[in-house]
Amino acid sequence: MTPKNTDILIIGAGLTGLTIAYLLKDSNLNIKIVETRNRVGGRIHTIKSNNNTTIELGATWIQRPHTQLLSLLSELKMEIFEQKIGNTAIYEANTFTPAQDVSLPPNNDPSYRIKGGSINLINTLANFVDAQDILLNQKVEKIEVSKDGLKVVTTNTEFLTKQVISTVPPFLFSNSIQLSTELQDNVKSVLNKTHTWMGESIKVGLVYEKPFWRSTDFIGTVFSNVGPITEFYDHSNFQDSKYALKGFIKNEYAKLTKEKRLEMILRQLKKFYGDQVNDYLSYEELVWSDEVATSMPYVDYVMPHQNNGHKVYQNTYLHSRLFIAGTETAQNFGGYMEGSIRSAQFVANEILKEHQS
Ligand SMILES: Cc1cc2nc3c(=O)[nH]c(=O)nc-3n(C[C@H](O)[C@H](O)[C@H](O)COP(=O)(O)OP(=O)(O)OC[C@H]3O[C@@H](n4cnc5c(N)ncnc54)[C@H](O)[C@@H]3O)c2cc1C
Repeated sequence: MTPKNTDILIIGAGLTGLTIAYLLKDSNLNIKIVETRNRVGGRIHTIKSNNNTTIELGATWIQRPHTQLLSLLSELKMEIFEQKIGNTAIYEANTFTPAQDVSLPPNNDPSYRIKGGSINLINTLANFVDAQDILLNQKVEKIEVSKDGLKVVTTNTEFLTKQVISTVPPFLFSNSIQLSTELQDNVKSVLNKTHTWMGESIKVGLVYEKPFWRSTDFIGTVFSNVGPITEFYDHSNFQDSKYALKGFIKNEYAKLTKEKRLEMILRQLKKFYGDQVNDYLSYEELVWSDEVATSMPYVDYVMPHQNNGHKVYQNTYLHSRLFIAGTETAQNFGGYMEGSIRSAQFVANEILKEHQS
C-alpha cells in the first residue's frame, strides 16, 4: 500500500480536531482528519427524531465562563439561546417521600444551547475543511516512527505525515492505538488515569406533540435521587415549535435493554404528568459506555476530571511529532466543549509558532 502523504494528520473529527483544522486553515499546511465513526462530532451528537425534533445526545449546554467557545461561536456568526428552567422544579429526594415542588432561586447564571443544535457548530467548522480531507470510517490502529515522519496505519489506509495530533480521549488513545515507540511510563500512567468526561453517561429524550409539562412556574425541570431519571429539562427548540423532554438517567441502567429503560422512564414521568407521557412521538437515547470510539472500561477507578490539563499534555512525543490533544488535556475547563477549544488553540499555536520560525 502506498502511504498518503500529509503535513498534519489529526485523529478524530470531534470539536477539538475540527477546531484545530479551522485554526490552521490559513497556514498552507496539508491537513487531513481521520475519524473512526461514520459521522463527525464525536461527543457532540445531535439527532433528528422522526418528526424533525432536534435531540442532543451529547454536549448541549454552554455557560458564560466558556469564553473561548462563545467567541468562536460569535466569529462563526452562530447564535445561542437560554436553557429555561422555570421558577419551580420537581424534586424527588428518596424512595419513601413523594415528589415535591421546590422553588428555584433566580437563575443568574443560565446555560445556553446552540440554535439548531450543537451539531451546527461541528458542521460549520467542517465546512472550512475540504470534504475529501475528512476521512470517515478510518480507525487509527498504529503509529510508527519512520525516517521521514510518522506512519499512521488505519483500518484501510496508511498515511505518512510530519506530525500527528490525537484528539482521542487520552485513556482510549493509550489503550487502543499501538505506538512503535512506547511512551514513557510516567506519561502512560497519566493517560491511563485521565477520565473520559461523560463516558459513562446515558442521555435520553422524549418527543411530544405538545409541551403538556409546562405550567405558569414549572417548565419541566426535574431532579431525582430515585431514578432512573436524575435530571430532566424542557428540550424544545428555539422557535418553540417542536417539543421534547431530555436529560440523564442513572449510569447503572446501561445494563438494561432499551425497552426496559423506556418503560422505567415512562413509569417515573407518569407520577408527575399522568398517562399523557405514553403518547410520545419518539424515544431517543444513547448509552455512552457502549460507544467504543469514546469509552472503554478502566482497569482501576479513575476520578472524573483527574489529570485534566496535566503537564504531560503540554509536551510532544515521538521525536516532537505527536501531540496529545482533546478536551481532557486542556488546562482549564477540561471535559467541556470549552476545553476542546482551548486544547485546539494550544496545539494550533504551537504548530504555527514552529512553522513561522
Ligand atoms: C452525554 C454527554 C453530554 C455532554 N454535555 C456537555 C455539555 O452540556 N456541555 C459541554 O461543554 N460539554 C458536554 N459534554 C462534553 C463534550 O461533548 C466534550 O467536551 C467535547 O465534545 C469533546 O470533544 P473532543 O473533540 O475533545 O473529543 P471527542 O468528541 O471524543 O472526539 C474524539 C474523536 O476521535 C474519534 N476517535 C476515537 N478513536 C479513534 C481512532 N482510533 N481513530 C480515529 N478516530 C478516533 C472519535 O470517534 C471522536 O470523533 C458532554 C459529553 C457527553 C458524552
